[in-house]
This record gives sequence, structure tokens and C-alpha cells, in this order.
Amino acid sequence: MGASLPSYAEAAAKVRDYGSQLLVRAKRIEPVALSNALGRVLARPVRADRDMPAFPRSTRDGFAVRTAEASGWLDIGGSIRAGDPPAPRLPAGLAWEIMTGAAVPEGADAVAMLEHIETEQVGQDGARVRLVPGRQLETGENIVPAAAEARAGDELIPAGTRFGPSQIAAAATCGYAIVEVFARPRVAILTTGDELVAIDATPGPGQIRNSNGIMLASLVAQAGGEPWLLPAVPDHRGDIESALRAALDADLLLISGGVSAGKFDLVEPALAGLGATFHFTGVRMQPGKPLVFGDLPVPGRLLPFFGHPGNPISTAATFLLFAAPILRALAGEEAIAPQFAAARLARDARGKPNLTRFIPARKASDGLPGSMPSVVPVPWQGSGDLAAFAHANCFLVIPEGTDRSSAGDTAMILPI
Ligand code: AMP
Ligand code: MG
Repeated sequence: MGASLPSYAEAAAKVRDYGSQLLVRAKRIEPVALSNALGRVLARPVRADRDMPAFPRSTRDGFAVRTAEASGWLDIGGSIRAGDPPAPRLPAGLAWEIMTGAAVPEGADAVAMLEHIETEQVGQDGARVRLVPGRQLETGENIVPAAAEARAGDELIPAGTRFGPSQIAAAATCGYAIVEVFARPRVAILTTGDELVAIDATPGPGQIRNSNGIMLASLVAQAGGEPWLLPAVPDHRGDIESALRAALDADLLLISGGVSAGKFDLVEPALAGLGATFHFTGVRMQPGKPLVFGDLPVPGRLLPFFGHPGNPISTAATFLLFAAPILRALAGEEAIAPQFAAARLARDARGKPNLTRFIPARKASDGLPGSMPSVVPVPWQGSGDLAAFAHANCFLVIPEGTDRSSAGDTAMILPI
């Protein structure tokens, strides 16, 4: 079995190389409001529109002082609040009360935090301050100098970055109410199988609802694509070919079912009929072994496709491991590889000879820093078990060549 099939690592390397070529392909760019940019991929860098900070900023509530004078009593010159225009230069012998986020006046070289300050009443309504005896104050303490974070024009977020909340905040502070992002790739989803009925239909004897269509649509949306869900087609070569023809406008084509070795697995012949090149037809993995990856010639470009084995857990695993990186490359995102993470295995798990296993599993964390999440395989009846899959939030990886992993081992997981 399978000696001629690529290993998971070999297949993943092929997909990564293919993805790198897609990354440099010209892509459509569109403006979106920053409020709608979450999950979108930046097409032009975000740059600082002014020095950051634009003025020396106090990071504490306290007193702006000259460090050399701070141990002696200083009269209070006034108060500076966040948002106030810069105060005049600090005269010798004075301290200015200052709030977090306010501009530190010229002449002051540190801010003594309120908790380190001693106040003394002077006369009816005057007061003076000094550092609590024994306290030190370093030059520059509690001040972020102007331009210490970035200079006007500096690139803060490179093109190819997917917007998360931290990038949205950085773009917002630079005044980007609108950002230029890559258009979402359109991903055609074609499900095949005589047994499939719509999710709002009652299956007849031997029939099942088409869960893969909507699952793939959600996986596509999660990975940054625009799902284009086509009607399911029966296991009939002519029907499959016409359905494929109708999908050639897509940027990526995902097919579910019909790629195993069975008599009615007609997807490969249909693809071949349209002139497909196959990069691999099978991978040494479980589930997902029959996965097919290739491209179809369409005017002016190649249309990459995946033929996913129809068992839902195989479909999901092969999407996350192989189709998602290609989709991210089409979306212009630089970081295309699947993001595996480490977790502590809570129960023994077995490997399979000559295969990398991807076992649906549940990771949990106690939320404490320094403790690794734990992961436990969900009990399952094989790759069609959607009841088990509903409990899974990741795949546990058992690499090829590993006979068994034991409770307590560190294992790699892929979040779903
Ligand atoms: P296949 O890859 O076509 O041999 O299908 C493998 C298994 O997955 C069979 O049990 C199918 O009934 C099931 N299956 C195929 N397509 C879907 C689908 N769209 N939704 C849910 N299950 C499916
Ligand atoms: Mg089938």
C-alpha cells in the first residue's frame, strides 16, 4: 500500500511551493472600511502618519520633574491633563502635576509616579511635593519619548498581513478609516454523491444530508475566502463534468466525494476530461488518504482544485491541511502554512504504520500562564462520525513512524 504516495510532509511541501507561486500572482485590490476589515488581508502597508507618540507621553499619573531636583521640595506649577496642548517649559524648582497620556513639558526629564510622591501643605491652599525619601528616579522614567514607537512614514503593518484586532488598532491610530485589502478569493464548492439530499430535506432510505457543502463553506469563510456553494451532483461523469465547467470562473475549486477507488468515484476521470494536471492523487495520511490536488487550464491562468474524500472528517482535515494554505495564498496572506500548536496528551493515542494520523480531538486549557493546554482524542466511529466531530475543536497529529503517543507526551494539534 501507498509506497508510491507522498507522505504528509511531502504533500504539504508541494502545496507550500504551489502556494508561494500563487502569492506573487497579481490580485484584485479593494477598499474597505476599517470597521469591516477584520479577517481581511492588507494589500498596501499601513504606515505611521506622524511620529508615535507625537509628543513625549507620560505613562503615569504623577509629577513631571527634573530628576536632579526631585529629592528636594518642588512647588507645583500647574496640572496637565491628557488632551491638553503642551505646557510651557518647566521652570527650575517646579513640578507639574501630570496625567497618564498627557504631553510631558519641555525641561522635565522624568515623571515621578503619584505613589512615590510626598505632598506637603504650604499656607492655605498651596502645596509642594518631593520624591519619597529613599526613592530613586531615573532620567526618562515614565516617559515615552516622541517617535520612540515609530517615526512618521515607518511601515507598521506589511502588505500580506491578515487584520486581527491588534492590526485594526494600529491602523486606527494612524487614521486609516479605510484600508486597501485583497479581494476575497471565490471558492467553488461542488459536492458529489447519489446519496445526498439537501439539509432541509428528510433523507429517504440510504440517503444522507449534504453536510460537507455547508461545512466547506464555513471553512472557506473562516480561511478568508468567499464560498460559492454549487448544487450537489450525482455520481455521473457527464453531470460532474458539466458542473465542473460551470465552476471554472472560481479562484479555487473544492470537490467533495468521488475520489476513492470505488466504481462510482468519477471525479478524477471528469477532471482528466477537462485537461487537469494532477500534483498528487493520494497522501500517506489518515483520514484523508484519497485527497487529490491539481489544476485545470482556464484562459490566462491555472485553476487549482482539491478533490476531498467525502467522509466529513476527512474533508475537514484535508481542507485545513492543504486547501486552506492555497486559499490563504490566493487571498494574498503571507503566512499560509497551517498553524500547529503544542498540547499535552491526556490519553494514549495510537499511530498507524506508514501514515500520519489526524485524530479529531478536544483541547482544553485551565487558562493559567505556563501550563500547556491538554488534548484528548474524542471517541469516534471513523471519519464519517459527525456526532464525535461535534465535540472536536482540533486535530491531534500522530506523525508517521510513531507507534503510539502516551499520556503526558507533548503532541502537536491543529485547531479547527
Ligand atoms: P466518497 O468519498 O464519495 O466515497 O464518500 C465517502 C463517504 O462520505 C460516504 O459515506 C459518503 O456518503 C460520505 N459523504 C460523501 N459526500 C458527503 C457530503 N457532501 N456530506 C456528508 N457526507 C458525505
Ligand atoms: Mg461518493
